[in-house]
Amino acid sequence: MTLPRRRFDTLIIGAGGAGLNAALQLAGSGLRVAVVSKVFPTRSHTVAAQGGVNAALANVLPDTWHWHMFDTVKGSDYLGDQDAIEFMCREAIPTVYDLEHMGVPFSRLDSGKIYQRAFGGQSQDFGGPQAARTCAAADRTGHAILHALYQQNIRARTHFFDEYFAIDLLRDDEGAVLGALVLEIESGEPLLIEAKTTLIATGGCGQVFRTTSNARINTGDGMAMALRAGIPLQDMEFFQFHPTGIAGKGKLITEGVRGEGGYLINGEGERFMERYAPNARDLAGRDVVARAIVTEIMEGRGCGINKDYVLLRVDHLGEELIASRLPGIRESARIFAGIDPVLEPIPVFPTAHYSMGGIPTDRFGRVVAPAGEGAEEVVPGLYAAGECACASVHGANRLGGNSLLDILVFGRAAGKDIVEYIKENPHHRPMSEASLDQALSRLLYWAQTEKKPSGKGKAKPAKVTSVRELREEFRKVMEDHAGVFRTHKTLSEGVKLLKSIRKQLAGIHLKDHSKVFNVARIEALELENMIDVGMAIATSALGRKESRGAHSRPDFAARDDRQWMKHSLYFKEKDRLEYKPVRSKPMTVKSFPPMERTY
Ligand SMILES: Cc1cc2nc3c(=O)[nH]c(=O)nc-3n(C[C@H](O)[C@H](O)[C@H](O)COP(=O)(O)OP(=O)(O)OC[C@H]3O[C@@H](n4cnc5c(N)ncnc54)[C@H](O)[C@@H]3O)c2cc1C
Repeated sequence: MTLPRRRFDTLIIGAGGAGLNAALQLAGSGLRVAVVSKVFPTRSHTVAAQGGVNAALANVLPDTWHWHMFDTVKGSDYLGDQDAIEFMCREAIPTVYDLEHMGVPFSRLDSGKIYQRAFGGQSQDFGGPQAARTCAAADRTGHAILHALYQQNIRARTHFFDEYFAIDLLRDDEGAVLGALVLEIESGEPLLIEAKTTLIATGGCGQVFRTTSNARINTGDGMAMALRAGIPLQDMEFFQFHPTGIAGKGKLITEGVRGEGGYLINGEGERFMERYAPNARDLAGRDVVARAIVTEIMEGRGCGINKDYVLLRVDHLGEELIASRLPGIRESARIFAGIDPVLEPIPVFPTAHYSMGGIPTDRFGRVVAPAGEGAEEVVPGLYAAGECACASVHGANRLGGNSLLDILVFGRAAGKDIVEYIKENPHHRPMSEASLDQALSRLLYWAQTEKKPSGKGKAKPAKVTSVRELREEFRKVMEDHAGVFRTHKTLSEGVKLLKSIRKQLAGIHLKDHSKVFNVARIEALELENMIDVGMAIATSALGRKESRGAHSRPDFAARDDRQWMKHSLYFKEKDRLEYKPVRSKPMTVKSFPPMERTY
């Protein structure tokens, strides 16, 4: 099969904040950049970010990047790499000013400076009083940022492939990454994009859980592509459940609501967070608040007929403040819960929100993989940034407002490093045909008109016959077996069920074989990806026999620093786990040693 080919200096897969900020660096250096996105760029999930982006600007309360660093290390439950965290917190300040200069319409203080709100886990003076570090454009910060970045890229003449679906990475025999095979969704035609460097910026994978704040597109495609290329995923057991999703729907109500003075109550009308986090109360770390909500409900203190949610009160804040600072959440509450938060409290329950784990990188966005005997090496030509990557700045739990920061800082760092890499590696390398065949076979597999042969693994007769049904079954398994609390029992059962679901998928035959805009085929490819990522989450969670950050194991309730101050690495081949040490040495300051994490 002869494939159409295009050549670029760099291929960026993903047009969210990470991909677009990297693209800007590259286009500014005169390189030819292709950005591939399965949806129109400004529909990437970054657009949905509400609350804001952290930087120690000290516009509202005193602040320094060093306090921000302390909070992030503590928030990570000491599993974050302190060199990367120092880098991110220092870079935060110029990054936000950069956004301002690009035209992001931040909310303003009376002084004209950028407005900053309080978010969970933020402190002054290394654990002292609450800080206000989150720079916001009302409750639509991601929207403002993504649109500004897109417009700047149009001006810089970045080449966009809109509504192209990346199938798999292509490598040469020495393991260098040379681009990707992509599919034009509209025509159903494959296209080979050759590039000297490839950046994966495909965002998160929240769709693997049934109740999630994430968009329908967040299916972990880039993470699964890395797994298939033999690259492990790091720290996948750490998945953040945001405390305040609209009950039963998962739609997010930003932490900014609590930052503006909103608070949680249980069925007895009690402000229960006072018992779980006496100082920070409703603004404790997200993992702490999510566990508190689930515990209240499990102990019978939920609200409603089934006592299966708690309430978030904002009615005392007044209509004026809600209209100026939180207009979007008022709209969401009206649409998704049928209530007006100016008058009534919002029913909430934790919702699957954010993957702390991902493709392992250093702080330059270079993908690093184990090279035997504890050594690591950079995968030539491959970069990752944004939620799909693990730099690792969030460790076991991410602080609100630190993800927009992560995608911008490491998107830019990757862009800068790619410029240097291409100076030293100016030529395209020859592609391995085997690698291309493998990527193509995945596409052709879902294009077969014949009933499935036993071809792909041992196909099991499917109990369900459609990809959609199987996807829902899969997402329920993940929610029931790897949710806020998980134990050896739930996880080992979960892994078994996932293996069976993987086999069932191989037995499903698509009915629609048209090439043009074949959504069923895309959904099948996405489900394959989600199952790989789900296996990574459940297997890594089964492996870690302690509770740390978002990973709560009632059967191993304590944090165990002696055994578990290490990152996990999950390999798809044989569902294997390896571990590597946390980098606890910062760049220039003293490291923060592990302490008990209370709020
Ligand atoms: C509702 C919500 C609110 C949030 N609020 C905040 C907040 O206030 N502050 C904060 O710091 N963080 C927040 N977050 C988290 C943060 O927004 C995300 O982590 C971040 O925006 C992810 O950016 P990204 O660039 O990595 O990926 P995304 O913005 O998700 O973009 C991924 C891109 O990859 C493309 N893609 C994926 N797969 C493929 C494929 N196979 N082929 C081609 N293209 C592909 C998509 O089309 C898209 O362009 C929020 C998240 C959610 C869900």
